[in-house]
Amino acid sequence: MEKNPREAESVDCREASRLLCAAYERKLSATESESLTYHLDRCFMCRNFDSQLKFLHTAAERFRSGGK
Ligand SMILES: [Zn+2]
Repeated sequence: MEKNPREAESVDCREASRLLCAAYERKLSATESESLTYHLDRCFMCRNFDSQLKFLHTAAERFRSGGK
């Protein structure tokens, strides 16, 4: 069954957090980042998770490049 294009915009929290993690490993497709943005606009929990991820990622980057 074909997926309704409107449905691509609504992901659940599990899918949203999967996309948030994936965004650090690869470039998200236009549809994926659109769905993610759409979800983040509406979900405080995932925005919170996003900022935690950003924090961890920045810390890890600093650790890796600042080393020693
Ligand atoms: Zn969510």
